[in-house]
Amino acid sequence: MCEDFQHDRDILSESKRIVIKIGTSSLTYENGRTNLRRIGTLVRVISDLMNQGKEVILVSSGAIGIGVNTLKMAEKPSSVAGRQAVAAVGQCNLMQIYSQIFSDYGYNVGQLLLTRDILERSDMKINTINTFNELLDLKIIPIVNENDSVAVDEIKFGDNDNLSYVVATLTEADLLVILTDIDGYYDKNPESPDAKLYHNVYDLSEEIEKAAGGAGSKLGTGGMLTKVHACRLAAERGINSVIVNGSDPRVVFDIIDGKDIGTLFVARK
Ligand code: GLU
Repeated sequence: MCEDFQHDRDILSESKRIVIKIGTSSLTYENGRTNLRRIGTLVRVISDLMNQGKEVILVSSGAIGIGVNTLKMAEKPSSVAGRQAVAAVGQCNLMQIYSQIFSDYGYNVGQLLLTRDILERSDMKINTINTFNELLDLKIIPIVNENDSVAVDEIKFGDNDNLSYVVATLTEADLLVILTDIDGYYDKNPESPDAKLYHNVYDLSEEIEKAAGGAGSKLGTGGMLTKVHACRLAAERGINSVIVNGSDPRVVFDIIDGKDIGTLFVARK
């Protein structure tokens, strides 16, 4: 294994196909309303990357979060049917926002709502891959979410971190960027004063065990575990991935410029 820190960062500039994942907490304010400023910046960043000749796929959550806001509900419905209905409304609204802002930069978007059974049925899997490739050939930005309105437990991806890894694999992406509200992957609860951020990660299995070991660790319960898991799988499939604070989505430019930012899970060579 070759551990050449800066080289492994610099190589990210060569990434042609990039999957960017953004979660609900990054798309909405704490009061539940849509963070249009952040979405606007994200769309501008993606449009500029497309202008550079890169191919970008966006995996975006927010169907339920934005649906709750659209319908002026105080909180998520407790019933499955209620949440699935809210997702149906929120997904429309989310796509309308993306579509409108992307059109300001001359780009069209295409929506893909996926369920896990695309991985089990080879015909569906092939069609999904072909759709991604066709959209990208047409310079259209694919925007992906789980199909929350029809998914049942058996065919759920469960979380969009996992979904983003699946999309990166299906599309043979070079880079997966997971935008979140923490600066990256820490060796222990990031609130501990001596918590250390991992910059480049090469040997994940050992580190994952250490971090997940501490009882009550935020890494295990605060959404970091699913991200790290997605990145480990991506690394095994030869895809570089970065977990980074996406409060300013322009951070994606820094990653591509090889800056030491967030945690890079170096693809297995
Ligand atoms: N698919 C869900 C939504 O759009 C979010 C799932 C996740 O963020 O992991 O609301």
